[in-house]
Amino acid sequence: MNDHQTWKQVLEIIKRYEYPVVIVSATARTTRQLVEASKLAAMGNLEKAHSIADEVHERHQKLVNDFLNENPHQKNQLIKESCDKKVAEHISKLKKLLEYVYKQQDLADGMLDAIASIGEQISSYLLAQCGLALDMLTQFIDAKKIIKTDAEYGKATPNRALIGQKSGSLETVLDSGFTPIIGGFYGEAPDGTTTTLGFEGSDYSASLIGGAMHAQAIEIWTDVSGIYTSDPRFITDAKPIAELSYFDATEMAYFGAKVLHPSTLKPAQERNIPVFVKNMFKPNDSGTKIIRESGHNRDVLAMSFKPEMVLLTVSAYETVMGYSFLTRVFAALERHRLPVDAVNTTEASVTIALSDSIKLEKLSNELIEVGTITIEQHKGLVSLIGIQLSSMKDLNQQVFEVITKEEVDMITFTKEKRILSVVVAEERMVETAQKIHSKLF
Ligand code: ASP
Ligand code: MG
Repeated sequence: MNDHQTWKQVLEIIKRYEYPVVIVSATARTTRQLVEASKLAAMGNLEKAHSIADEVHERHQKLVNDFLNENPHQKNQLIKESCDKKVAEHISKLKKLLEYVYKQQDLADGMLDAIASIGEQISSYLLAQCGLALDMLTQFIDAKKIIKTDAEYGKATPNRALIGQKSGSLETVLDSGFTPIIGGFYGEAPDGTTTTLGFEGSDYSASLIGGAMHAQAIEIWTDVSGIYTSDPRFITDAKPIAELSYFDATEMAYFGAKVLHPSTLKPAQERNIPVFVKNMFKPNDSGTKIIRESGHNRDVLAMSFKPEMVLLTVSAYETVMGYSFLTRVFAALERHRLPVDAVNTTEASVTIALSDSIKLEKLSNELIEVGTITIEQHKGLVSLIGIQLSSMKDLNQQVFEVITKEEVDMITFTKEKRILSVVVAEERMVETAQKIHSKLF
C-alpha cells in the first residue's frame, strides 16, 4: 500500500462489499523505518532518526496529494487540510517520542509500540479521508477503541471478551451506512498505553474483529496471490495453494511462512469463518481459501524456513536428573513466554531451537541452575509441513538425497503435527530450502 494508484485500487475493492469492515496496515516500509528510527535514537543518533520521521511525513503527504489530484472532488481542499494536519500531528508526536528515547538512551518496550504503531495510525486515517474523495462513506476508527490487550508490549495478547464488547460499536457504524476503517497491528493496554500485536499484526487485528462480529468471511489482501508452497521471494518455483485447513495454515505461519501472523486463524477457526488470502494487485486471482477441512493428496503440503534461530542445549547436572530436569527447563521457557520451534531430548540433555534471542541471556542465567548450557547462534530452520504419514519414509530419503547429514545440526519429526524440521547453518538455509523444494514440489 504505498502509492495513490494502489490506494485507489484498495478503495475500489472495498466498494464491492455490502458491509465491509476494513483493517489496514501501514504503507510499505513505514513500520520498518519507524523501528529503525527508534533504534537510531536509542543509540544516540537523533538527527538521523528525525530525518527518517521527515521522510515518513513527506511520503504520506505526497500520497494524499497525488490521490486527490487524480480524483478531483469538491471536498478535496478540506480533505487535504485535515490530512495534512493529522499527519503533521503524528509526526510531531513521533519526534517527541524519539527525543525521549534519545535522552533515555534506551528503548523501553512500551516506547517501541507507541512509535511502531504510528504507521497504522496514519494510514487508517488517510485511507478513510481518501474514501470521502470517491464519495464513499468511509469513517476512521481508532483501533485503541476496539483492540483491547494486556500490557505485554511487542506481542500483546488481545482481550477477546472486551474486543467482543467494543466491536458492537462497529455494527452501529455499519448500520448508519458507514464503512469503518481501522488501523491494524496496534491496540491498547488496560492503562491506556499503546500496544502492538507482533509482526504481521494487521492480519491478526482483522481476524479478531471479524471473529468478534461473526463476519461472513475474513479476507487478507496482500501483494501475493495467496499462500504459497514456500516463500516466493526466495524460492523460485513456489506455487500458490488453492485450499488449506486452519490447522495447516497455522503451522505454516508458526514455522516462518511470512504471510500470516501465527495467531490470525484462531478467532476465525472458533467461529468457522473462512479466511481468504488474496492479491490486491491481481484481485481476480483466486488466492488461497482457508477452511476447517481441506483434504489433499500430496506427500507434503508446504515448506517454510526461518532464519535467526538459536540452538540451546542444556545438559543436566547429576543432581538434577530425570523428569524434574525437563520440567525445570520447560518451566523456564514458559516463564519467559518463549515458544519452542523444535526440540530433541535425551534423558540427561535437551536441545531446543528458539527464535527469540533477545531473552536468551536471562533464560540461560536461570537454566544454569539446572545444567550446563551451550548456545549455537546463526541457525536456520527448514520445515516440511502437512506430511502424509504414509510417505514419511520416502520423504526422509528424498530430503537426505539433497542435503548431506553433516550439514544438519538437528532433525525432528512430530507425528501429531505432521512436521519434519531440519536445523542448518543460517547462511545455507535458503540454498538448502531451495534444493528441498525443487525435489519435493
Ligand atoms: N505494519 C506491521 C508490520 O509490518 C503490521 C502488518 O503489516 O501487518 O508487521
Ligand atoms: Mg501486513
